[in-house]
Amino acid sequence: VFSFVRLLFPAGAETTVLGLGNTMLALLTHPEVMERTLADLEGEGPWVIEEGMRYFVPVVALPRRTKVDVEWRGLSLLAETNVALSVVVPVFNEEAVLVEFQRRLNAVLAGLGVRYEVVYIDDGSTDQTAHLLQRLQRSHPGISYARLTRNFGKEAAMTAGLDHTRGDAVIILDADMQDPPELMVEMYAHWKKGFKLVIGNRKDRQESPMQKFFSNTFHSLMKKIALKNIPDGGFDFVFFDRQVREEVLKLKESNSNIFYLMTWMGYAYVNIPYVRKQREIGTSRW
Ligand code: UDP
Ligand code: MG
Repeated sequence: VFSFVRLLFPAGAETTVLGLGNTMLALLTHPEVMERTLADLEGEGPWVIEEGMRYFVPVVALPRRTKVDVEWRGLSLLAETNVALSVVVPVFNEEAVLVEFQRRLNAVLAGLGVRYEVVYIDDGSTDQTAHLLQRLQRSHPGISYARLTRNFGKEAAMTAGLDHTRGDAVIILDADMQDPPELMVEMYAHWKKGFKLVIGNRKDRQESPMQKFFSNTFHSLMKKIALKNIPDGGFDFVFFDRQVREEVLKLKESNSNIFYLMTWMGYAYVNIPYVRKQREIGTSRW
């Protein structure tokens, strides 16, 4: 089993470790760290070196990539280097759907055949969400998660998620499966063709008249007053290039909607209409 693990050393130096079964091949990227062996570093940092592993140090210097600060749960295996696709999933009390969602997402990602990571942001859940995320992370190499100290709302959770992504493309997805993860395949194809932003555009929704009224009114006001180039209908489902991610994070906007920000920045986008399903499990908190 091949796996790439990135360790963050206390001094800020980075090391990428290639795991081959129970053998670890350390690819050191920092001269200071190269002077030392991994055995020296044992017990020093936020990682656990499991018994029975052997180390070869150092082998090759890798080009440095974006630094990620992942919470370490032992040597959890994170897909590293050249992550093609990052999936960000904000979750708040989603114990009822989480496992099924991950199963469905996995099927789509496996079909795409690219190196991916799934970044869950637990937005202060009080149910079994955190526990389930921990379990999922242990059983799937590409999953990582971070937990916010309390419930900050979906916007903040999405931004925190973006902060943790390394992919060349990013998709933000809700866990409740109202927006079909399968649409990602088509979105990915558009991105491959060169579009930096792909919007899943609700052409209709199976929601209550009241819910429809509020979000439609908000959306058409936005369209009329501020953002003339946005598609009709709302959008909760976007797929975008890492460049868009970086621009959005640079804005450091905390009182806005990042989907609107993306269109506001003026990227040409593709629009894929779909019907937004009713939430079948759990309830909406908007
Ligand atoms: N969510 C979140 N924090 C919140 C509320 C919701 O992270 O405070 C997540 C939620 O778990 C889901 C997504 O954001 O994955 C969309 O939430 P919801 O389905 O309640 O919103 P709606 O579909 O009604 O817009
Ligand atoms: Mg929903």
